[in-house]
Amino acid sequence: MLVAGPCAAETEAQLMATAGELVAMGVTYFRAGIWKPRTKPGSFEGVGEVGLNWLRQVRQEYGLKVATEVATAEHLNTVRKYDIDAYWIGARTATNPFALQQLANAMTDEDHTVFLKNPVNPDVELWCGAVDRLLSVGVKHLVLVHRGFSIYNSRLYRNTPFWNIAIEMKRRYPTIPLLCDPSHMGGQVSLIEPLSQQALNFGYEGLMVECHANPECALSDRQQQLSPAQLREMLSRLVVRQTKDIPDELDVLRRKIDTIDETLFELLSQRIDVCRQIGKYKQQNNLTLFQNNRYTEVLAHYAAMAEEQGLSPRFAEQLFEQIHTESLRQQHELLNHSPADD
Ligand code: PEP
Ligand code: MN
Repeated sequence: MLVAGPCAAETEAQLMATAGELVAMGVTYFRAGIWKPRTKPGSFEGVGEVGLNWLRQVRQEYGLKVATEVATAEHLNTVRKYDIDAYWIGARTATNPFALQQLANAMTDEDHTVFLKNPVNPDVELWCGAVDRLLSVGVKHLVLVHRGFSIYNSRLYRNTPFWNIAIEMKRRYPTIPLLCDPSHMGGQVSLIEPLSQQALNFGYEGLMVECHANPECALSDRQQQLSPAQLREMLSRLVVRQTKDIPDELDVLRRKIDTIDETLFELLSQRIDVCRQIGKYKQQNNLTLFQNNRYTEVLAHYAAMAEEQGLSPRFAEQLFEQIHTESLRQQHELLNHSPADD
């Protein structure tokens, strides 16, 4: 599924020009915001209801399905007068349970496609809550849109992806399509393609991409909007991967992974046994459980070893931290038993 179009509808000419370029690119929905949720007042807040006429015109003239953002029941009631095919609920609305519930109440037995962005903050349960509110009023065609999460002082991304959150949503709601919005995630043109490809590699069902006939003149989100030519080129390069297993080859490799993982577990369990013996020794000799010198040495040793073996040192450190924390926990548990218990 490809949802593409400008951040905002600005003028009739801008909207028609953009749609005219996108029609041949296999766009499933043409998107344009009519009411724009801006962080600070004073910037362009959308053209309002007049833009819905232009969206309807895009629909009639180019045969494209059209989508816009709704944040309140009032928006929804207005949008319903204009043959709009799909609505999206923005990240800020998805973050607010009151707003979401009010919108959901106005969407009872909703037949139109509803795109739900992730909430602004990286909270799986909050995103699930929004999904559940919409499903429970009978929204029939729900689509999730992963647009990244707002983090203070984020350097590279406008909104940090935290892919694991979207993957967890896919695990919980396997039948709900999941799209990636690389535009609001990346915040700059150079990141749109790598983020899109990464989402496709993970098996996302599609993309929502901002595209403007003339990005340098855009009234909002100027740095992240692709020109139609840039979008066309990106689409020609993106590789869509098979989501189905290729039975034999993949099965053999998975079997290998399973065997390795089982061995890892066995070794971890042996390691814990030794740790408990050490714990007993420390207890008998009244030694502290945590020995900083030893810990620092071992951590550095594994980070260096990881590098030699083609693993990331950071990964090795994190893994070892986890293992060490569990060892300490086990040894601590020993201390809480009186020796007579053993
Ligand atoms: C948008 O899609 O134009 C938008 C405002 O997105 P988000 O809610 O993800 O910030
Ligand atoms: Mn935008």
